[in-house]
Amino acid sequence: MKITVVGTGYVGLVSGACFADVGIEVVCVDIDKKKIDKLKNGIMPIFEPGLEEIVKRNYASGRLHFSTNLAEAIQDSDVAFIAVGTPPGEDGSADLKYVLAVAEEIGQNMSDYIVVATKSTVPVTTGKKVQQTIQAALDNRGSDLEFAVASNPEFLKEGAAVEDFLKPDRIIIGVEDERAQKIMKRLYKPFQLSGDRIIYMDIPSAEMTKYTANAMLATKISFMNDIANLCELVGADANMVRKGIGSDPRIGNKFIYPGVGYGGSCFPKDVKAIVKTAKQYGYDLRVLQAVEAVNEDQKHTLVNKVKKHFGEDLSGMVFALWGLSFKPNTDDMREAPAIVIIDELRAAGATVKAYDPIAMEEAKEVYVGDKISYCNDAYDACVDADAVLLITEWSEFRLPSWKAVGKLLKNKVVFDGRNIYDRKYLNEMGFIHYGIGLGAEN
Ligand code: NAD
Repeated sequence: MKITVVGTGYVGLVSGACFADVGIEVVCVDIDKKKIDKLKNGIMPIFEPGLEEIVKRNYASGRLHFSTNLAEAIQDSDVAFIAVGTPPGEDGSADLKYVLAVAEEIGQNMSDYIVVATKSTVPVTTGKKVQQTIQAALDNRGSDLEFAVASNPEFLKEGAAVEDFLKPDRIIIGVEDERAQKIMKRLYKPFQLSGDRIIYMDIPSAEMTKYTANAMLATKISFMNDIANLCELVGADANMVRKGIGSDPRIGNKFIYPGVGYGGSCFPKDVKAIVKTAKQYGYDLRVLQAVEAVNEDQKHTLVNKVKKHFGEDLSGMVFALWGLSFKPNTDDMREAPAIVIIDELRAAGATVKAYDPIAMEEAKEVYVGDKISYCNDAYDACVDADAVLLITEWSEFRLPSWKAVGKLLKNKVVFDGRNIYDRKYLNEMGFIHYGIGLGAEN
């Protein structure tokens, strides 16, 4: 089989490399020439555990190709996956301009039957728009070529994307054409050796499934943050409450960790987009509006604690920030809570010394210069800092030498945005520890 994957970002590059790894010929296409050149030279444009190895192996084998030429790539392809970005437009709805531009280009250049599958997260009815766009392009050419549209939303998690793709929990395929269904089934056979993981459905249901999954996960996070804030007021420990409820299989123990709010390129934009979709149909998704509002507030929680401890005016103060990316094991800074935290600290007059094991290059795209510096390691960030703020729970931050940290900091104060530290132990070491929802403060 041969496929084309259009868009060589977190989703497209991982999908393309993993499809190639099971023997499929894959062309990864992107309009960003720099990205394609880098890939041809073995340089990964993103950080994702295990990705470099799988890309290099398959590129060397000649099964994985990189190109900026979509027209050429789709010749002889059984499937063209659209995996380009769907960023939020000004009104919060998903901007489909990249998806539809690709659909049009496919219609203008295809020369045989092809399945066009959207992997990007796209609002319900996009399948129809993709279909109409391709058909219009074919009509313009006076062509009667046949094609099918499918919805194949992607559920990989950044930080574990390769593993998620190779061993999926489920594969959702929205397809309304028998020939296309057979092709998709064949394509995904290698990824479900341990049992049938494909759930077929109509295209609108597949599109809704992706948004509903992300909206549900975001809901769990905001719900728990809301509860954690109450725990703090009433003197309960949100960690204990989490363990207590997480042992109920109806609730489950994942995604109920209080913290500094969700971020990343998916949850914030997808919650906004589904709320917008509902509005377009005259319906108010009230739960999700609250999920978003709680999340916006939660990003301020840690700096509120800093100000409560040190006062509103942080002029001349220095804060060590451990972690910048929106979660561990990724370099992705899109909508990272760290951005809000840094903005607030700087606005209050403070200086930030930041360290992240992987995301500092990406962070420099957002912040350079005034009142921020990037450090060599977690300890370097603490030199002459007034306190440390843990923002992203990278493994290397889990068990630092508090003795060393205590000697470097001006004040032994830790603001733990992910509740990863043992307050009792830190107190014994002479530290004041602030967490999220951990009962009576510090
Ligand atoms: P990304 O920004 O990392 O990559 C998108 C790529 O598409 C970019 O390299 C861009 O240059 C390219 N592109 C844009 N227009 C193009 C065109 N006309 N032709 C060829 N290439 C083009 O985005 P991403 O994080 O991979 O996300 C892609 C989609 O997948 C989004 O809809 C996102 O919501 C969804 N998704 C993302 C994740 C994730 O964890 N990042 C997970 C599941 C689904």
